[in-house]
Amino acid sequence: MPFITQTNRTLLRKLTQLACHLGASDAKTISTTEISVEEDLAKLCREPRCQNYGLSTSCPPYVAGPDGFRKLLKNFKHAVVFKIDVPSEILFSNERREIFQLLHEIAAGIEQSAIEMGLHDSNAYAGGSCKQIFCRDHADCQVLAEGGECRNPLCARPSMSGFGINVLKLKQAVGWLSNKTHRGTDPDTVSMETVCGLVLIG
Ligand code: SF4
Repeated sequence: MPFITQTNRTLLRKLTQLACHLGASDAKTISTTEISVEEDLAKLCREPRCQNYGLSTSCPPYVAGPDGFRKLLKNFKHAVVFKIDVPSEILFSNERREIFQLLHEIAAGIEQSAIEMGLHDSNAYAGGSCKQIFCRDHADCQVLAEGGECRNPLCARPSMSGFGINVLKLKQAVGWLSNKTHRGTDPDTVSMETVCGLVLIG
């Protein structure tokens, strides 16, 4: 997509609308120049070691990391970023798995629709470990353990963390400035968190 034509603008708008239809709280189109990729963020997966490090092909050390993502990014001009606002008490409870499952499903849904629109290289990124979200009841990631197919190819997507994608800067780029939002007023104030996904469109 060398420049944003009227047709592409329409397609991108359809994809952001789809994100909300699938369950996102909001979605925006950004230029890929607004995506910041940082080595130090990717290193956090390894040190301090994330409990999900090495558990699936969607996480380090099995993903291309910041260097690979920067190379990939050169092929794209636009991306869709979306968010799910969720009460803190849910995000930090056993229900978090369902939130992250939805995050992956929305990302994969946008990617699939973009491909069906003819944007065949589109690819999606979510957050959290697909091993914990989709394969928690299995001993191993099937791809790593057996060299087999992913059990969940229609919904599991790589985590942005392993590529060093700065999610806070993504939020700032689209005007979701605060990491935490609040709903209502005292005494009913609910502390809110935001989780994000990203789909490169092209
Ligand atoms: S098989 Fe499971 S753990 Fe492995 S990549 Fe697919 S969803 Fe992730």
